[in-house]
Amino acid sequence: MSTKPERNMMRWRQVGDKFVVTNDAGEFVVLTPAEMDLVASNKVKPGSELENRLLAKHMLMCGPDCIEEAAEAFGRKASYLYRGPVLHIMVVTLRCNQVCKYCHASRAGMKETENDMSIATAEKVVDMAMRSPSDSITIEFQGGEPLVNWEVVKHVVEYGTMKADAAGKRVMFSLVSNLSMMDDEKLDYLVRRRVQISTSLDGPKDIHDGNRKLSGASAYDKCVFWMERINKAYVAAGLDPKLYHVEALATITREHLGRARDLVDEYIARGCRAIFMRPLNPFGYAKQTEQSISYSADDFLKFYDEALKYILEQNRKGVEVMERLAAIFLTKIMTPDDPNYLDIRNPCGAGVGQIAYNHDGSIFTCDEGRMVYQMGDDIFKLGEIDNMTLKDVVTHETVKTLMMASTLDSIPGCATCAYKPWCGTCPVYNYGEQGNIFPQNSTNQRCRIYMGVQDRLMKYFVDGDNEVIDIFRRWVEVKERPEYLHDGRPKADDGSRGV
Ligand code: SF4
Ligand code: SF4
Repeated sequence: MSTKPERNMMRWRQVGDKFVVTNDAGEFVVLTPAEMDLVASNKVKPGSELENRLLAKHMLMCGPDCIEEAAEAFGRKASYLYRGPVLHIMVVTLRCNQVCKYCHASRAGMKETENDMSIATAEKVVDMAMRSPSDSITIEFQGGEPLVNWEVVKHVVEYGTMKADAAGKRVMFSLVSNLSMMDDEKLDYLVRRRVQISTSLDGPKDIHDGNRKLSGASAYDKCVFWMERINKAYVAAGLDPKLYHVEALATITREHLGRARDLVDEYIARGCRAIFMRPLNPFGYAKQTEQSISYSADDFLKFYDEALKYILEQNRKGVEVMERLAAIFLTKIMTPDDPNYLDIRNPCGAGVGQIAYNHDGSIFTCDEGRMVYQMGDDIFKLGEIDNMTLKDVVTHETVKTLMMASTLDSIPGCATCAYKPWCGTCPVYNYGEQGNIFPQNSTNQRCRIYMGVQDRLMKYFVDGDNEVIDIFRRWVEVKERPEYLHDGRPKADDGSRGV
């Protein structure tokens, strides 16, 4: 006697004239309205093509083997939960030589040296990071402008490498810089020690210099000059330029609206292979200047739409460039893995996936939590490096609360949303925008943006646009960059993807 398949937990959403149906493991099927009716009324014909399609994606489950397969798929997708804090953000100084209209970090002036991290504090931070259960961690230098406190950056690279060797861990160092204080000596050191370099490039010169002020010079000229020099230095060091190049991010402000093509052209001209179009966050100066620089979610999506279509047009012409927010979602949509992007996962990475350390040794759930502190609110502060262990951090009541507030399965709206398996909510953003760590999704701008981006991506699957799906396939390919990993052991896959 054959067993009748049981329905798995499914969520669905109409996209165009079809339905996207997902399960908890992030698998999906696209159904016509007639097929959706059959599924909803439990009338799928045994042995039909539709039943087989639903069984293959575990929307229907038949017997214990099938349940085990579905559980394995779910476990693989959520494997980040077992890794512990992998990202350790060190604010080595709050000082910065630039003034950006949207500065989320609330920078300090160049003379305010009391905002620098000391070597003693930096070593304590490295010691805590090395206690993470993850065998692979990233130490990210943030600011302010981290090159202002160059001696501490260098010391952490040396000390961190030594400690990683002793702990049998792999460590990657990542520097987030405006590049205007770069010089040949620093560049030589960073390339030699394989420190990954990222910067902010807001697009054409007029927008970049309008948003990011550098006294007595053009922030744009400095930034693109050093981007080129760094990329050449990687090539001179024998590194594959397809994998090793400066990564850049654009913070989208009102000035960008209507200028999507200009932004994409700028990135392509600078040799970038990825564009990360980051929406504004309600922290730091961006909160004070929001009247003049912010926009609605609908404005952002219109801009995003133009940019994505133009990026795809460029790909069709053979230009290899991807959009990073899309690539994060597409990795979840198209592969059995999760890229472990800490701000878009379920629950988010606050305290359990990432930890931020301020210049004075105070510890925060994440860099965004630290940004709120700089605005005078210590709600996301966990304590001080001098009197906390890693266990104290991970088990802190605030961390537990943020985990609850970002577990989509219990959030009204998210729990029933078809995009729940691929999405995430940021309690710190929600607090900044809506005054509540739990999102009020009907009016939450970030939810609208994430939903809109996923709608746009899924439309290509609904339409069966194989040319674009092939481009997406390239965007989610694993791109390992072993040269950035410091350790003496063979370079194994750490599960991270080139998104
Ligand atoms: S609270 Fe927000 S910024 Fe912090 S880790 Fe979670 S999603 Fe990221
Ligand atoms: S944040 Fe919005 S798009 Fe994401 S799962 Fe929740 S309701 Fe869906």
